[in-house]
Amino acid sequence: MTQKKPLIAANWKMNHVVDEALKFLTEMKCSLVTQEENATIVICPSYTALYAMGVALQDDNTINLGAQNCHFEDSGAFTGEVSTDFLKEVGCDYVIIGHSERRHIFGETDEMINKKLHKVFEKGMIPIFCVGETEQEREEGKTFTVIENQLKQGLKGLLKDQIAAMAIAYEPVWAIGTGKTASPEQAQEVHNFIRKEIAKNFGTSYAADSHILYGGSVKPSNIKDLMVMEDIDGALIGGASLKSKDFLEIISNCN
Ligand code: PEP
Repeated sequence: MTQKKPLIAANWKMNHVVDEALKFLTEMKCSLVTQEENATIVICPSYTALYAMGVALQDDNTINLGAQNCHFEDSGAFTGEVSTDFLKEVGCDYVIIGHSERRHIFGETDEMINKKLHKVFEKGMIPIFCVGETEQEREEGKTFTVIENQLKQGLKGLLKDQIAAMAIAYEPVWAIGTGKTASPEQAQEVHNFIRKEIAKNFGTSYAADSHILYGGSVKPSNIKDLMVMEDIDGALIGGASLKSKDFLEIISNCN
């Protein structure tokens, strides 16, 4: 098992209005006292809940705030977009970049994702950079080629220290929101590949330091089996992060 403190991140996607988000936080805070050393915890709510969550977390050093996306420019004529300065202002320390829903539904390219990763670092936040193959790509034996390319394009121009500080989430698209989790062995195989790719391009110690998270139908019942794998350093969780009870159980089962 990894020696690093696990990173457990909640991706709420387009769920939870402000009241629900704050209620979730209150439930978490009541139960977290004994678990705070267990993991680095990140919650990524909707944009509209970020401000209220940031205020509620001002004196809290157990739960970190994250966003689900950002724009790669600082400001300008980009109707509907949210800049990294806006995120920083409301207290975000993390930003999910390149989620497969952004890639596949909203047409984000590797080039845009690379610009976003640079911008997040420039503003002093930590990206959670998502990679992963579709079901068809897996069936066609292209998993490693797809991941290699996403890493190559996405990480272009980043510094070694940034690689060490960031989180990379392996999220097989076929496992997201489907209830089909990759087996611990399937996940480990790709995580190990990712670690080796990073080592090859940036150096072994930087690869060892970066957090490689698994995402795709993680639940309280499967987190333990995933976390015992050598190269799994945490998880990015969608559906099972929406209920505080399940999310807390995942945190307490993660090491
Ligand atoms: C995700 O969207 O990042 C995710 C992993 O979703 P789920 O846990 O619901 O599969």
